[in-house]
Amino acid sequence: MKKFAIIGYPLEHSFSPKIHNAAFSELGISAVYEKFEIAPDQFKETIPKIKNGDWYGFNVTIPYKQSIIPFLDAVEPVTKKIGAVNTIRVRGDGSWLGFNTDYQGFLHPIAGNLKNFKKVIMIGAGGAARAVAFGLLSHCTPEELAILNRSLENARALAGHLSEFDKTKVTIQKTDDTGALHFKADLIINTTSVGMGSRSGALIIDPVPFCKMKTIVYDLIYNPAETRFLRRARQAGFKTINGLPMLLGQAAEAFKIWTGRNFPERVLKDLQKAF
Ligand code: NAP
Repeated sequence: MKKFAIIGYPLEHSFSPKIHNAAFSELGISAVYEKFEIAPDQFKETIPKIKNGDWYGFNVTIPYKQSIIPFLDAVEPVTKKIGAVNTIRVRGDGSWLGFNTDYQGFLHPIAGNLKNFKKVIMIGAGGAARAVAFGLLSHCTPEELAILNRSLENARALAGHLSEFDKTKVTIQKTDDTGALHFKADLIINTTSVGMGSRSGALIIDPVPFCKMKTIVYDLIYNPAETRFLRRARQAGFKTINGLPMLLGQAAEAFKIWTGRNFPERVLKDLQKAF
């Protein structure tokens, strides 16, 4: 039986075991996918112990997508540029190879709209934000990307990381300083964890003042299915996208990396209905 797991903290919100176990079962693959919750003060000592185990692969989620990198033996080139890892393949010799499949998952539900995104607001500057910004800037060229984050230092680090995309003006500001935002956006994305799980009542910013005709408001959170951030936008008449298509998209890419097989279509359709 091949063993896979998601590493993160907390993990109560994670749908990943359900997704991968359904696909293993459909394809008759003898494998199991578990939750492996590691508290932040245990992370550094636990990872080397796991490396000696008989695992085949991992997903990595909050808050470890960047801090896992020093423990990897190699990182796939695009993932190196992103600077955040959400998938690990354990190779035959036991070494760990890191990938990022979040950026592909993120692009999946907006693939047909990319050319319309001239002005973009992205809230957050963590691991998911890195994948989102890389996905956007490498697949379309917005005139302007405003990064809003609680910590200006993290926003600055992310903006610096994006310097190769010099056709897009990247600006940074604090999340609580939205008064300084001088434009309405074609795409507004929440990449923070504010509004997720037990904090589902929280609202990172009100997106509506920054919307214009045809703005798409996108929240990476999938649990709850509609955050306050998305509800505000939907009630004001704007198109919204939650994190479920991204979740399924990144999972399908990770599944391919581990098994060499496409994620089964029928399971994908069932999961879209189930969540
Ligand atoms: P992360 O690396 O820990 O980053 C968290 C981000 O949220 C940072 O920008 C952080 O700001 C901000 N933040 C956290 N608590 C906050 C608070 N109380 N007030 C204001 N800002 C706060 O996490 P991540 O891996 O990027 O994940 C972020 C979210 O994306 C999670 O909800 C995760 O579930 C979701 N996600 C979804 C998918 C999907 O497939 N749908 C994929 C990846 C991630 P600071 O920089 O100031 O700390």
